[in-house]
This record gives sequence, C-alpha cells and structure tokens, in this order.
Amino acid sequence: MLDLVMLDRDGVINVDLPTSVRSWKEFTFLPSVENAIHTLNQAKIPVAIITNQAIVGRNELSLEELNNIHLQMQKSLMEKGAHIDHIFFCTDTTIEPHYRRKPAPGMLLEALKHFNARPAHSYMIGDALRDLEAAYYAGCQRILVRTGKGIITEKDGIPTFLEPLPIYDNLLTAVKALLEKLDDFSANAYITEHH
Ligand SMILES: [Mg+2]
Repeated sequence: MLDLVMLDRDGVINVDLPTSVRSWKEFTFLPSVENAIHTLNQAKIPVAIITNQAIVGRNELSLEELNNIHLQMQKSLMEKGAHIDHIFFCTDTTIEPHYRRKPAPGMLLEALKHFNARPAHSYMIGDALRDLEAAYYAGCQRILVRTGKGIITEKDGIPTFLEPLPIYDNLLTAVKALLEKLDDFSANAYITEHH
C-alpha cells in the first residue's frame, strides 16, 4: 500500500535556480515530470508538494506571486491530465528556523494528517539532504533523485541513518520503481490470500 507521495518542488519538479524561482516565467518543468505526476494520479495515489520558500520570508517574492506560480503550474499540469493534490509551503527564513521548515518534519506531518496517510506507507522524494532528513524525522520512506542538487547530494555522501535510500535519475524513474514495487506487493498479497 502506498498512502501518499510527497515531492520537493525545486530540483524535483522544476529546474532549480540559484536565485530561486521568482515568477511563472522562470518556472521550467524538468523532463517527464508531468508524466510522472499523471502516473501517480492514475494510480490514485495522493500527491503533495512539500517546499521551503524562504524567498517569501525574505520579501524577495510576494505570497501572491508564489500562489500565482503554483496556480499556473497546476494549470499547466492539468493540460497534461495531471494534478498536485495539495501544496504545502513554508515561507520561514533560515535565520528563524521553524518547525515547518525542512529539515524539520512539520510540513510532512501536516500532509500525513491531511491525507490520513501512514508515515511508513508514505514517501518523500527530494534532491537535497534536508528533504530526506525531514522524511526521516516524520517517519516516512525516502527517495533521492539525481535532478537538481541530487547528484551533489549523492556525491557528498548520505548519512547512514537515512538508509535505506533508493536513488533514481529523475522523478519518472522513481515513480515507476515505486509502482512496480507496489505491483509486486499486491501480487504477493494475492498469492498469500488465495493459496
Ligand atoms: Mg530541492
């Protein structure tokens, strides 16, 4: 069973920019992301975004513009038959670390509650260590993707407490692997049940 898939945004869904995404014009989907999200939608698995957006807290991006970016993102996804079920964001800055800001697990705990999802049956997919740490603190499964900062994160070394940590090239390969695992699991459950 897979209750919930949580995705980091920058570097997983869209191209991460050193200056952060400040408008819809600067938002570029990574390849095959729409397909990956559509695949989860088809499998009826809730999809949430869990994103730190300190840029808002630093007053470099208005809340209106952040909401507009997410609205346009959803519209663009809808055109491909895909959608995000809920977006959780944290505008707190690094200077005032908060319970919600990753690597703290606050947003993930909110998402688990929102979707009535079991942590052990929920995944966080991210490109940075803080995504994986937040997943660990929330008791969730975790996956690293090699998009965004992912390759650097992998090269820098993964702390052992975060293992097991499957690593995939991008969101689509991660999602496909997750669903395959689910299929195997269902098949096994079927065998157990019927023999
Ligand atoms: Mg990221």
